[in-house]
Amino acid sequence: MENSPAISMTGLIGPTIMLVFAIGFIWVWLVDRRHRHSATLAGACALFGLGMLSQVLQWPSGVGPNALFSGFLYTLAVVLASEGMLRRAGKRLGLVASVLLLGAIMALLWYFAYIQPNLLMRIYVQNFSYGAILFIVALRILPARNAGRADHILFWVLLAFALHFFPRTLMTAGRSLPMLSVAPGNSLFWQTLQLSLSVMGAALALTVLATILTDVMDELRHERDRDGLTGVLNRRGFEEQAQRHVKSRRRAPLSLIVCDLDHFKQINDTHGHHVGDAALRAFGDMLQKCARSSDIVGRIGGEEFALLLPHTDLEGARDLAERLRSGLSSTTLSINQKSVHLSASFGIVHKSADDDLATLLRRADDHLYGAKQAGRDRVLSDPVAGSYQGSTEPLQSDPSESPASSA
Ligand code: GH3
Ligand code: MG
Ligand code: MG
Repeated sequence: MENSPAISMTGLIGPTIMLVFAIGFIWVWLVDRRHRHSATLAGACALFGLGMLSQVLQWPSGVGPNALFSGFLYTLAVVLASEGMLRRAGKRLGLVASVLLLGAIMALLWYFAYIQPNLLMRIYVQNFSYGAILFIVALRILPARNAGRADHILFWVLLAFALHFFPRTLMTAGRSLPMLSVAPGNSLFWQTLQLSLSVMGAALALTVLATILTDVMDELRHERDRDGLTGVLNRRGFEEQAQRHVKSRRRAPLSLIVCDLDHFKQINDTHGHHVGDAALRAFGDMLQKCARSSDIVGRIGGEEFALLLPHTDLEGARDLAERLRSGLSSTTLSINQKSVHLSASFGIVHKSADDDLATLLRRADDHLYGAKQAGRDRVLSDPVAGSYQGSTEPLQSDPSESPASSA
């Protein structure tokens, strides 16, 4: 079959697309160096594009050298793509497996190029092994049920890409083989193969790139919403998440606890700011350990924290606050060889149908203020049905006015 200029130009589309994706992955890696798998995937795209180019340009010339060279580039690209996708999921293909796969596929290609020349077998070896490798990778990155949408999309696109190697190869190779013996490099068969590979490869590369960009945005959002010192949500993150709950569960029980460390200025003044920081971290840890995974924990001020408790009535919220209060005031923390005693005051509200977050926070703050006024180290809440738990009648009375103790 004649190699027309139009066909050669078409053949350049695939390599160009792959090069563009390689630049995209490198770009992401340069923006955020933590995503090293993005650099690996850039290498995969570049090698894949080069593999296509070596076939289109028939460089190196000669069936054997071209089959081995392009086969090497393609196989390395598939190995790197697998490594990149696995690394993104916190797994690895590893050097040994990579070298073994590369060696086995290259040995088979060499055998069917030089010992027993057979184009069909070379096509089968390459396509079936790539399909099998990527199928296994897809199974290994199988997303958990609660994983993000991007992970699910990546899984399905990778699965489709892996499986498409089988029917496509069986259909196209079987039918077009007579033509291949005439002009393998630029025959219509190869152009069709290249085009379908380009389209499927581009779809996969686009999905992986979009997934990594989603990862980057998720991480930035996470950093934006977290308090760097304690690891719980900061005020912005807390309000955003809490707002969503308050709005979406208008009728479901929902409680809010606001708490503030007592005499914290004194802890800083007595032991130093770094001990104060460690105490805040310890309190943040304690809140997170006591909270359920559905609870929202945030540091909403210097030494003020909040817990939004979905599906929790006032009684349940008071139980939790009381556990936190007594746990804190009965423990002496050892920070930098200094014994630090902390206590905290708590204000609790339960959401009624029309309450918005601002109202809940204000009312909880009123109870917190009441607890401080009443002597600190106590829990004050909205009245529980049938009994009054107002700021003039604290839940427990243990007015320890000076919780800070010296080393
Ligand atoms: P009260 O019992 O009335 O709450 O008294 P308090 O001393 O805890 O309250 P006050 O508002 O007077 O002081 C809060 C202190 O918290 C002052 C501030 O230096 C300290 N603080 C706020 N943020 C941080 C922080 O990130 N690290 C440290 N070490 N201290 C902090
Ligand atoms: Mg305080
Ligand atoms: Mg305060």
